[in-house]
Amino acid sequence: DLPAVAFIGLGNMGSPMSARLAAAGYPVTGFDLDPAARDRLTEAGGTTAGSAAEAARGAGVVILMLPSSAVVEAVLAEPAVTAALAPGTTVIDMSSSDPLSTRKLAGELAAASVTLIDAPVSGGVKGAENGTLTIMVGGEEAAVERARPLLAQLGSARRAGNVGSGHAIKAINNLLSATHLLATAEGILAGERFGLDPAVMVELINTSSGRSGSTDNKYPNFILPETFDSGFGLRLMLKDMKIATGLARQLGLSSRLGEQAVALWEHAAEALPPAADHTEIARWAAAATRA
Ligand code: NAD
Repeated sequence: DLPAVAFIGLGNMGSPMSARLAAAGYPVTGFDLDPAARDRLTEAGGTTAGSAAEAARGAGVVILMLPSSAVVEAVLAEPAVTAALAPGTTVIDMSSSDPLSTRKLAGELAAASVTLIDAPVSGGVKGAENGTLTIMVGGEEAAVERARPLLAQLGSARRAGNVGSGHAIKAINNLLSATHLLATAEGILAGERFGLDPAVMVELINTSSGRSGSTDNKYPNFILPETFDSGFGLRLMLKDMKIATGLARQLGLSSRLGEQAVALWEHAAEALPPAADHTEIARWAAAATRA
């Protein structure tokens, strides 16, 4: 029998992910502060609740797909939510959260016999819609194994280590991805000024050693067509970069290139509108690098 699933956070990612679980036959009860997000789950065959606590009541699995650790912490600190989590419940934080916060939360929940695993994702809105996400999992092996059939509906899950490990590798991945993207933008701008066609450059880089997710996905799909509609916000990317550099700092390491990238993305976040897509970093770079 499929466990009842509470799905908290029905945004760009949570919406298609919760819809997939509902389509696979999981009884899904969702909650989001935004009524339009709740309506999308109802249309996809799920049920919605009036609060996170109401969604969590009676659920065997509680999935969180929220913006940040600050929000995850706030939701889990609501007394009504704590009361709604029965012993034996598994909480899966699929948001891109801070691994140190995740470890702390896991310890607190364990005291109430609730298991937390982290399972952040890569693959974007398309990957969420198609069930082809890469899922980076941290947590006790037994709990991860129990969650496997559910995660398989969303993508391909790999256990990276103990709780917090998924969130650590996710933040590191996004710091790389953001750094590649800005480096790519600077390179393409210089080539363009030299007279090259950006599409030709991207094709050549994609069969060369400079290729990355920026050249094989972001440039062809969102930047060259100037749609800038990947569905992943610039501010969410900056949050992930800061998790990665902050983690390194707390471990006694300095990430010199990473800190530079954070500073540049911060300038972009100040210059671009609050809802800017992360691919708009290329537009910012075009203005900022004009010397
Ligand atoms: P989003 O902003 O589209 O969705 C977040 C949702 O959480 C919103 O609908 C918001 O209303 C809701 N929310 C905020 N506070 C809440 C609360 N207290 N209670 C209930 N709902 C609340 O963000 P997203 O793009 O879906 O990203 C979610 C997470 O996944 C983030 O951590 C992000 O970094 C990560 N992520 C995003 C992508 C992407 O391509 N968009 C890819 C991988 C990972």
